[in-house]
Amino acid sequence: MSRIARVALDTPLDRLFDYLAPDAEAADIGRRVEVPFGPRILVGVLVELGTHSEVAATSLKSLQRIDRDTPPLPADLLALARFAAGYYHHALGAVLASLLPPALRRGGRPARAAEPAAYAPSETGRGELAGIDTRKPAQFALAARLLAAPVVRAELNGREKALLRDWSKRGWVQGHAAPTWPADEAGPVAPTPTPDQEAALNAIRAAGAGFSPWLLHGVTGSGKTEVYLRLVADTLAQGRQSLILVPEIHLTPQLTERFAQRFPGSRLIGLHSGLADGERRAGWLAALRGDADIILGTRLAVFTPLPRLGLIVVDEEHDTSYKQMEGMRYSARDVAVWRARQAGVPVLLGSATPALETWRNAKVGRYRLLGLAARAHAQASLPKVRLIDSRTDRPKQGLGKALLAALDAALQRGEQSLVFINRRGYAPTLLCNGCGHVFPCPRCSAHLVLHRARAGYRLVCHHCGLDTRPPEACPDCGGVDLRPAGQGTQRVEEALAGHFPQARILRVDRDTAARKGAFSAMRERVAAREVDILVGTQIVAKGHDFPHLTLVGVIGADQALVSPDFRATERLFAQLMQVAGRAGRAEHPGEVLIQTRYPGHPLYQAVARHDYPGFAEAALRERRAAGFPPFVAQAVLRAEASSEEAALGFLLAARESGMEIGKSLAPGVEMFDPVPALMLRIAGRHRLQLLLQSDTRARLQGFLGHWLEALAKLPARGAKWVLDVDPVDV
Ligand code: ADP
Ligand code: ZN
Repeated sequence: MSRIARVALDTPLDRLFDYLAPDAEAADIGRRVEVPFGPRILVGVLVELGTHSEVAATSLKSLQRIDRDTPPLPADLLALARFAAGYYHHALGAVLASLLPPALRRGGRPARAAEPAAYAPSETGRGELAGIDTRKPAQFALAARLLAAPVVRAELNGREKALLRDWSKRGWVQGHAAPTWPADEAGPVAPTPTPDQEAALNAIRAAGAGFSPWLLHGVTGSGKTEVYLRLVADTLAQGRQSLILVPEIHLTPQLTERFAQRFPGSRLIGLHSGLADGERRAGWLAALRGDADIILGTRLAVFTPLPRLGLIVVDEEHDTSYKQMEGMRYSARDVAVWRARQAGVPVLLGSATPALETWRNAKVGRYRLLGLAARAHAQASLPKVRLIDSRTDRPKQGLGKALLAALDAALQRGEQSLVFINRRGYAPTLLCNGCGHVFPCPRCSAHLVLHRARAGYRLVCHHCGLDTRPPEACPDCGGVDLRPAGQGTQRVEEALAGHFPQARILRVDRDTAARKGAFSAMRERVAAREVDILVGTQIVAKGHDFPHLTLVGVIGADQALVSPDFRATERLFAQLMQVAGRAGRAEHPGEVLIQTRYPGHPLYQAVARHDYPGFAEAALRERRAAGFPPFVAQAVLRAEASSEEAALGFLLAARESGMEIGKSLAPGVEMFDPVPALMLRIAGRHRLQLLLQSDTRARLQGFLGHWLEALAKLPARGAKWVLDVDPVDV
């Protein structure tokens, strides 16, 4: 009887491929395999075994190799991948490929895959290592290190690595998951939970094992992380693994440190796209083998294989970084909830400003709501928010009198301030004072942003990267009075330096934080009080705990109130609450000044009251009235092409076929006309989109299944298209 292996390959074709595999066994399901595919050898995952194929036996090829050095992907992960592939309408092979670490997507024997993240002496090796002679200083030193604590591979030089390979062959040392904290150091004592924390923990513990979804709502500093830590402790005690998701790579070092300190004996790994391939593979394999106890990572970590999974936490669950914007457009938060359901474990979503979808899920009882009302630190209170009317206190170069006075006072007290402006560069536009001409990007529907570089000013496109020298004269009227209009971080930094020449000012935005390690260096400078005033975009607003920062100034926030994106106000509210949360975290009370032309706006009023529920209820009422999510389910078909006609032509044909399906097979889905995307043109590509919505996800999904089959058969006419289920930017 011939054995047929069905293999998921990373091709856009949503089907499995059959190969002859005489020696494959059931235990090989979930393993990486190498197969011939046309002229190439591809890496795929064996997902099913069968005995017959629809392909003629003579044209079937054979599996080239089954990777039995790596444990197979567990069945629950395969099931999760199938679920995600089905829900997001993405090819299973592509989903499986994207959940492998890059180093395991390539073929060939992973020669170095066996190298562990760290080494520790084996039982028998201890004696041998202790017996190494001092006359071999390098060996002696390395042996001494090993006997004291596991040695991390990434910290070794080439010679030491070679020694360890040798000792490993002799059986003196064995692999060990990388410890991030010396094992002999005792963790700090956990603080006694506040009554709110206690209540939250009791509720979750009382629910027992099994799936239960929770929303932990608490302002920054209310002690959410402390709740996570306690739940992780419970999970460790059960001998199970915890998966902790965070929105940003930048946030992982801080949190990793806190977890490592609390659980010195446990094996903790980080997983995010900033890791070197080897590190990521090592961490992933440690998780897959069940060696790692705590996995802390960004959205991609939601697909980590975890044979002993016991708990999932999604911190800052509202953060849009959980949504993947390319390839399979998934929401890691939503996948986390499905995963918890499937694995039968609790999932805890934490936020000071939950996504409106999540808040509603809690309100209708799908999630259970837990609240942390006050700040955990006994002395810390919420910052006072002042709305500064910029119609009367008119800002110069972005800064009004009230904000300048507050900054001055903070400087006098020797305390730190943060000026938040969510625009990088010098000025959002360069303007001709003669005719009002602004400089558009020739390839995108956006203005060029004025930046200040070492060699003078530049005009830069934030979408396609175009970077040119500003012209001497206006191309329209020939006038030479060209002026920057509006503020960006660089201009505010310059203005602050003019007002406070003695202050030490640090700008933090994507331009200054781009280099690896730059971000943590900045954090350290602020923590060491080498900085008086921070100027930055939202990247400084997230999750940083600076105890001496007592003043936050917000400028340029009004912009979001006039955005065509219906989610812009939700994001603004979350950003303002988050940035306000930076002020006064420890013993120092904080103050937040928001410069706005609309101090009476309900959004700002809610920020001033620190009133998330008030904001959320009002926003949900508006969404319901307008028929927006979460009251409807949406999907958007995006098409892009070198001409608008091509993209539009494809979408019109797609709409046509959708109408047929709606009439006959799957009714109840509303289809809108194709419209330009929020950014019509990026890098010369025209982008249009077609929005679909329905009262229920099930109805929408039923429709999409049929529709995508039809779309695959439509001529693309030079357009590239992609489906986005539950889009966050339409
Ligand atoms: P969040 O994650 O909500 O921002 P954290 O858990 O980081 O809040 O807590 C904020 C601060 O309060 C931290 O410095 C933390 O150590 C402290 N903290 C948390 N819980 C307690 C507690 N029960 N008693 C004393 N301090 C606490
Ligand atoms: Zn551009």
